[in-house]
Amino acid sequence: MSRPLLMIPGPVEVSPAVQAAGEAPPPGHLAPRFVESFGACLQMMRRVWLADEASRPFVVAGGGTLAMEMAVANLLEPGERALVVSTGYFSDRLVEMLRRYGAEVAEVRADEVGGAPDPDRVAAALSALRDGGAVKALLATHVDTSTGVRVDPAPLARLAREAGVLSIFDGVCATAAERFDMAGWEADVYLTASQKAVGVAPGLALLVASGRAIEARERRAGTPPPLYLDWEAWRPVMEAYEHRRAAYFSTPATTLVAALEVALREILAAGMPARFELHARAARALREAWAALGLRQVPLRDELAAHTLSALRLPAGVDASLVARIAERGVVVAGGLHPAIRSEYFRVGHMGYAVTRPEMLRRTVDAIGGALEAAGAPGDARAARAAIDAFAG
Ligand code: PMP
Repeated sequence: MSRPLLMIPGPVEVSPAVQAAGEAPPPGHLAPRFVESFGACLQMMRRVWLADEASRPFVVAGGGTLAMEMAVANLLEPGERALVVSTGYFSDRLVEMLRRYGAEVAEVRADEVGGAPDPDRVAAALSALRDGGAVKALLATHVDTSTGVRVDPAPLARLAREAGVLSIFDGVCATAAERFDMAGWEADVYLTASQKAVGVAPGLALLVASGRAIEARERRAGTPPPLYLDWEAWRPVMEAYEHRRAAYFSTPATTLVAALEVALREILAAGMPARFELHARAARALREAWAALGLRQVPLRDELAAHTLSALRLPAGVDASLVARIAERGVVVAGGLHPAIRSEYFRVGHMGYAVTRPEMLRRTVDAIGGALEAAGAPGDARAARAAIDAFAG
């Protein structure tokens, strides 16, 4: 049997060219070819993030959690106040992190799992929090991987700007697939990791900070952040590479950076509007397929459903062993993650390379349809497949 298809919400399938770059012998961090590669990555990140020239990109060995920690550690000092828009497991992680850095945290939470607080509620919560004193940051998870819920960052970034508050978005399950206009929306931090829609192996934390965010770090009066997380330690290195000079603070993950260059070039070759639209169209086709198979989504409304993954409730009478039955059919999907509903749903990733390969989506839908039938909950597998065929065109 061929290698199983990896359709979890990260790590995901990568393109053959990205894979080849990741298999090469590790470049030295001072080698001219690597300097060129790293510099190009940093410049391309601005274009993928739709960020302006005043913004600063950072690429650091680590994961999405490290990128989150970098944002929080640089921007929040003990006693400062932050509001978290909470839509699931990863928003809770932001809250935990903020508390560990000594911030005072307020939350505006979804009323139920699968929901998201609407911007009016966020505005009211922000205004109430500001009545008690200055607020430093508003944080949200663009797509929460535990619920499949996507928030619209635009009104949240606007609220934050109008209030003079920094906006920080966790884009780990969104960046390079869901529309994010960092400059247009005047967002302050947008962060991700290499293993999701960017389409590289795990191992890189990727973050772009606005000029305002960088200034906020510069103005910081109290103790500096932990050294490895400190933007001030990394900035001279990133700026040097952008100007095609080597520099050193801590050894970069050179092989991953070389693969990142290939991935970002592929993303930009399609163009960002086309890239966002492709993910949206693939998600719509898959939503039709899930409906044909009798599967209901965790997000409460279609407009809250991410374009990068589907969180699907198990049908009545089917338990979480469905995930293993799907794996037996050559496709790896993920189990539940949100503690409140962990055993009641499963998750399918559909971001990056896989959405450019309709046959991968077809294999996924077929495997899930077959597993459901074997579990005694057959859906209309032909209609499900037809939805993907229509997407493939
Ligand atoms: N935020 C979100 C939305 C995520 O999906 C993840 C990873 N699934 C993380 C943060 C953490 O990233 P990592 O596992 O790379 O630390």
